[in-house]
Amino acid sequence: MWDSLFIAQIGGVMVAKKTCLPKEFHLGGYTYDVREVDDTELKKTIGRPMDEEVPYGAFNPDYQAILIRKNMTNQMKSLTLMHEITHAIMYNNNVGMLKEEEQNEDLVDRMGMGFMEVIKRNPEIISFVSKAK
Ligand SMILES: [Zn+2]
Repeated sequence: MWDSLFIAQIGGVMVAKKTCLPKEFHLGGYTYDVREVDDTELKKTIGRPMDEEVPYGAFNPDYQAILIRKNMTNQMKSLTLMHEITHAIMYNNNVGMLKEEEQNEDLVDRMGMGFMEVIKRNPEIISFVSKAK
């Protein structure tokens, strides 16, 4: 069930920056833990062999957790967070995400990037929607 398909080649040195990643994410009556983890813990948690690539993040509805790889820029963490949140939205709404092999990582990526742009470029919309009852 772990989302371990979101992998990309990471070339060169990535500089880790201080971050204020939120500790929780709320959706559908659940609170998910958001945790930054190092490469070893991330691979171990998702059961990925140590000699394989490290994914950027993972979503696990069973443990109500989103894991984000530590050694990334805040921009990559944001993109990864939005990717994993998209998995959560799709899972929560039964959008064909119940089995890992059925996940469409490309769709999740594009939706996550879309959410990120909407959030970043539309503070007035976010504010309006946040206040709507
Ligand atoms: Zn994914």
